[in-house]
Amino acid sequence: MANRICRSCGKEFEQYENLAPAKRCPSCIDLEQRRDSIAIRRVCLMQFPSLEISIVPGVWEQVKHRKEDFPSYKVEIAGKNLPGSTPFAKGKIVLRSRFPYKPGAVVKARVMEAVHTDRHSGKPMTRRYLALDDRTAKTASAPILCYWIIGDSETHIEDRSFWSVKAYSDKPKNPCETIAMLAVIDEKHTVSLFDDTTKISFP
Ligand SMILES: [Zn+2]
Repeated sequence: MANRICRSCGKEFEQYENLAPAKRCPSCIDLEQRRDSIAIRRVCLMQFPSLEISIVPGVWEQVKHRKEDFPSYKVEIAGKNLPGSTPFAKGKIVLRSRFPYKPGAVVKARVMEAVHTDRHSGKPMTRRYLALDDRTAKTASAPILCYWIIGDSETHIEDRSFWSVKAYSDKPKNPCETIAMLAVIDEKHTVSLFDDTTKISFP
């Protein structure tokens, strides 16, 4: 991580990726792009020095940016976009990255919490996401990033992962719910899916 000075507002900000210096802070980029929410502050909650991407749970979408800023990409899975979603859908899985990594890449990663304000109402919102950083050497013991989609509310989840996030198509535990889950797992930090008759553990 490095501290940078924003060329637009003159304030200091933190850059986490090991890239050439970023020129502007996240708040100024959001303002300039006229986004609906403006970043106020970011905190890194957890870091993975080496993470193998087993799956990208959607299509990388390029985030709009100015020529002198770095391009960035995101994948978002919202409860309201899951099959059979209802007005009670909730949760969002968000991956962000400077590069549209493919499965098999081994990267540094961090869990981030960002506070934004709504540009119109000024209301603060807290969001969490997984940021994928620079590519690192592959190590045999790298935890892996996994994604499941479970279309059966009779399925139970035993979550011993390092970190995970879920999105629901309905109120959790409703009969018709679909659950999407992204988790960082290894041999000791497993996720098991089970019902009355079967149990499957990952990895
Ligand atoms: Zn700024």
